[in-house]
Amino acid sequence: MNVYDSARMADVLAPLGYALTEDPAEADMVLLNTCHIREKASEKVFSELGRLRQLREQREARGAGRMILGVAGCVAQAEGEEILARAPFVDLVLGPQAYHRLPEMVARLSRAGRAQLDTEFPAEPKFDHLPAPGPRGPAAFLAIQEGCDRFCTFCVVPYTRGAEYSRPVADILDEARALATQGTVEITLLGQNVNAYHGEGPDGATWSLGRLIRALAEIDGLDRLRYTTSHPRDVDDDLIAAHAEVPALMPFLHLPLQAGADRILKAMNRGHDVDAYRRVVDRLRAARPDLALSSDFIVGFPGETDREVQRTLDVIDEIGFVQAYSFKYSARPGTPAAAMPGQVPEPVKAERLARVQDLLNTQQIAFNRRCEGLEMAVLFDRPGKHPGQLVGRSPFMQPVHVTAPERLMGTVQRVRIDQGQPNSLAGRLVETSDGTLPERASA
Ligand code: SAH
Ligand code: SF4
Repeated sequence: MNVYDSARMADVLAPLGYALTEDPAEADMVLLNTCHIREKASEKVFSELGRLRQLREQREARGAGRMILGVAGCVAQAEGEEILARAPFVDLVLGPQAYHRLPEMVARLSRAGRAQLDTEFPAEPKFDHLPAPGPRGPAAFLAIQEGCDRFCTFCVVPYTRGAEYSRPVADILDEARALATQGTVEITLLGQNVNAYHGEGPDGATWSLGRLIRALAEIDGLDRLRYTTSHPRDVDDDLIAAHAEVPALMPFLHLPLQAGADRILKAMNRGHDVDAYRRVVDRLRAARPDLALSSDFIVGFPGETDREVQRTLDVIDEIGFVQAYSFKYSARPGTPAAAMPGQVPEPVKAERLARVQDLLNTQQIAFNRRCEGLEMAVLFDRPGKHPGQLVGRSPFMQPVHVTAPERLMGTVQRVRIDQGQPNSLAGRLVETSDGTLPERASA
């Protein structure tokens, strides 16, 4: 979501004459887009700000002009005043609901010469005020939903991103068409709880995610669709049917489970037990037998016992994930779990995380190995490290390294997988019977 938001901020600033640079030392403006989900991500902001301040001083000493320094995103939302107090050299502080007002903030900053803070939740959604997206390349994100009403006891999202909001269908289709026209082939639909999507359709009815996916799949040039992050409780029949019926919907799903013990899931307020998760997975796999699953896990939630960690390991073993993120529980200010008894000591969390990650890594490596010898449709979306090489993404989100001519960038090609490595695949283009390369293969 932050990658998407950053691109949208660039869209908003483009009419003011700003363009992206890879080199912060050259920048007229640096916006740090921040994450508040865990303490570690949050703390990085202040060390990063210290570094940027030095860059700014060096730049100004060179006579290269002033650098505007801003903090955006969820740390800004949650700790706006604290940022201005701890880092008074910062010029702009804005929450995730305020970035359409960036041009105004920049104007006020230059008029008043004083730092500008905007962490309001506006009455009108920011999406109504954003320009059409600029070119994003072969694979792009599109936010369709924001915020969350689930209030898992460990999570800051409902506080930083606010209440659940679904964008109207027509807006989403417009943004998707604009992306497709500019060469985007694959779209990942985004939301903090994306499958809770319930947007207003052009027919006045409320559309589910499944229905939206069917409409998006009709757009010319959009060959591939994904969505993230979904909640097991909000997987409905229509969405499962879409996995069976919409070929553009890729056979890879990120479906966070968090923990394998029912008592912990309850304390987390996830709203489902392990068996309910298992049933959802069974139905999804029945609909789409090649579906590969990815997940999120938290270890060291308050009160978690060693036996409960073993439950998590058992369930991972049983269900099987091709990829996953796992985290040490991080107490977040203002969340119910932060005040729960039985906070787990750091070294214990570290040891549990290592066990969970070991198993998840083993599963990921085994899956990548099982891909050897298969033919896959790969979307080439970036140049490789070596000349003559392109990197693409498989249907299962694995990076695939292939020797391929540059003209195939942005196309989907059939690739034979020769090697499954821990974090990626290597393969070669499949030639057609007459020895030529197909220009475009379907997903
Ligand atoms: N909406 C998604 C998750 C969004 S946050 C869902 O409900 O699944 C992304 C991931 O960060 C979560 O799945 C969780 O595993 C992790 N996370 C969130 N808060 C955390 C915390 N306080 N400590 C550790 N991990 C956390
Ligand atoms: Fe956070 Fe996801 Fe739970 Fe919402 S559903 S509170 S975003 S973990």
